Amino acid sequence: MREFALIERLAQRLGSGRADTRLGIGDDAALIAPPAGQELAITTDTLIAGRHFPFETPAFDIGYKALAVNLSDLAAMGADPAWVTIALSAPKLSADWCDALLDGALAAIGDHPVDIVGGDTTRGELSLTITAIGCLPAGRALRRSAARVGDLIAVTGTLGDAAFGLQCWPMRDRASDDQRFCIDRLARPQWRPGAALRGLANAAIDLSDGLAADLGHILAASGIGARLAIDALPASAALTRACDAESRRRLQWSGGDDYELCITLAEDRLDSARAALDCPLTVIGTIEQQPGLRAFDDNGQAWGRDGERGWDHFS
Ligand SMILES: [Mg+2]
Repeated sequence: MREFALIERLAQRLGSGRADTRLGIGDDAALIAPPAGQELAITTDTLIAGRHFPFETPAFDIGYKALAVNLSDLAAMGADPAWVTIALSAPKLSADWCDALLDGALAAIGDHPVDIVGGDTTRGELSLTITAIGCLPAGRALRRSAARVGDLIAVTGTLGDAAFGLQCWPMRDRASDDQRFCIDRLARPQWRPGAALRGLANAAIDLSDGLAADLGHILAASGIGARLAIDALPASAALTRACDAESRRRLQWSGGDDYELCITLAEDRLDSARAALDCPLTVIGTIEQQPGLRAFDDNGQAWGRDGERGWDHFS
């Protein structure tokens, strides 16, 4: 398929959406009119076959994940997602493959008012670069540097499923139901609408590289530390059944690709934050003055071995 044919195909399927999209696909550039008093949050991410997703990944899942990881980054800033561009590099393009990719992208967008306003295709190794733009009231972004001593630390959803799904990927054709659940969580992560947490959370980050690493970014940016209850980390029923307890803890602690949100917030905002979300929000620890990330089990014993703690590289 020639490039213009793909762009035309996208444009035909997308139609008109937001009123503040003045011009979508079809000219040299899109035109958008950000609402007055709003800031734009802009993020971009590249997914490369063989590195960020297996070569055999279905086109639907590639499109889904590429959108989800970018919308998750906007969510972690507290922004409402609004516009997206898609740059695709592929060895060859078929109409069916492109349609499946777009189906996945649109599924990740779901009901959110997001317009795909541009795209580009080139021949090359399979990769997908998404740029996502969101809006939020000026000065209201959820920044990594805003955690405060005494804040609770909380995460959405469950942790560790995607990392376990990656372990199960080679045996996907004979996976159990629990393994299949985790493989699907890896392929189609559920990004969380973090805009609902504006004014409630202090700091936020989405969990792409694992709890220890990503919470570590908040701690470093905020110049503080944290104490976590390792047995409080939320786990899916599937992961709990599929792994022994210690394997599960390690996956929850350092496994990536879950795209849940990790936030810090004042204790008196917890109920409001829970009410604002359509998913569970679990308290897993507290922010402390002492730098570094410490985990304890239910017996009050320090958890983790050297090299597994995740905080060694930033403490
Ligand atoms: Mg992120």
